[in-house]
Amino acid sequence: MAGALLRHPAARTIRTLSVRLSMRILPAQSQRKPQRAMYDSSDPSEPEIDDVEARLARGDAQDQPAAPSETSERPLRPALLRGWRRKCPNCGAGPLLKAYLKVRDSCPVCDQPLHHQRADDGPAYLTILIVGHVMAPAMLWAFETFRPEPLVLATIFSVGCIALSLYLLPRLKGAIVAFQWARRMHGF
Ligand SMILES: [Zn+2]
Repeated sequence: MAGALLRHPAARTIRTLSVRLSMRILPAQSQRKPQRAMYDSSDPSEPEIDDVEARLARGDAQDQPAAPSETSERPLRPALLRGWRRKCPNCGAGPLLKAYLKVRDSCPVCDQPLHHQRADDGPAYLTILIVGHVMAPAMLWAFETFRPEPLVLATIFSVGCIALSLYLLPRLKGAIVAFQWARRMHGF
C-alpha cells in the first residue's frame, strides 16, 4: 500500500514539496547522502526534484546549520504498524488520537509533535476504497449463493459496511500520520 501511495501523483507532489522544504531546513555537506537516498527517484519525469538536487550539489543551501535529528533514519514499517494501532509513530506507547479521529498535538509519552500531520481526507479515501472492494464482491456472492430477502441483504450489508468503515477509519488515519512522520512530510 505504501508503494502505491508513493506512486500516486499527489504523493509525488508532496514529495517534491517536502524536498524543497527539507532543502531549507537541512543540508550540510555530510548529511546530503541519506536525504538523497530517501527521496531518490529513478523517474526522469521529475525535473523539480532533479533541479533541487542539482542545487544541493552546487551547494546553494549549505549555509544553514542542520540539526542531527533532522536526518536520522525513520523506518517506515514499524511506524505504519504503530500508526495502525493508533499509537504515536515515534515511541509506539503514547496514544495518537484524543477522540475518535482527532490527532493529538503532541505525544503524551515522548513529546513528539504530531500537529504537523495533514491526513486530510486520505483516510476516508482509503476507507471507501477498501470497504467498496471488499463489500461489493461479497454482496454479489451472498446474493448469488443465498438469494436472501432484499431487506435482509440490505440490512446485513448496511451494518457490515458501516462497521467496517468505523473500524478502518481511525486505523488508516493513524497509518497515514505515521507515513507522513516517517517520511518527514509537512514539517515532521
Ligand atoms: Zn510518542
